Amino acid sequence: MTSWNIGKEKKVPNIHRILKIHNSAKILAKFEEYREMVKSKAMMMSARRRDERCIADGNELLRFHCSTFLCNLGQNGNSSLCSQQYCSVCGIIRSGFSTKMDGISTMSSSLKAHLAIPDDLEEEFDFMNVKRAMLVCRVVAGRIGSEQVDEVIEKGESTGYDSVVGRGGSNGGTSFRSDDEELLVFNPRAVLPCFAIVYSV
Ligand SMILES: [Zn+2]
Repeated sequence: MTSWNIGKEKKVPNIHRILKIHNSAKILAKFEEYREMVKSKAMMMSARRRDERCIADGNELLRFHCSTFLCNLGQNGNSSLCSQQYCSVCGIIRSGFSTKMDGISTMSSSLKAHLAIPDDLEEEFDFMNVKRAMLVCRVVAGRIGSEQVDEVIEKGESTGYDSVVGRGGSNGGTSFRSDDEELLVFNPRAVLPCFAIVYSV
């Protein structure tokens, strides 16, 4: 998160604090369990579709997810999570991403993740004291499928993919550049937030 070229403007995010997330043993175990599941699934693939990265480590990537929070997390050394319903960051850290979401959106760059949340959100919800945080996440991507321009892939199971490269392609979605785009991950256990960077622009 150095500087971002947003439109014609060059913005430098103002980083207030960086919090290292201490995931509970239970959450870590679930993440590793999921990785083992992806690895063994990859090993059973036919030789033609064999993916060595998946077999080695479940195709782990480092991705960004921007979220919001309402409490004083990280302020003056406060490391306790709140239980407010709309405090997304605390919810994600405590119990992982929601299973209700239709794929968890993770981005390859912090700028893309930042842009996924409306620019004026803090202004609009100022009365709730909304702030934003960039979550740096370890993601077991597994087998990555690509979403065709007009075709919507439903949940992963039926296609055999663990995640898909989603919308937001910088070239109108026609070129496949997986490191430039949004990755939608189907299983919440596949995403492990490691750092929360509290910032504003
Ligand atoms: Zn909170």
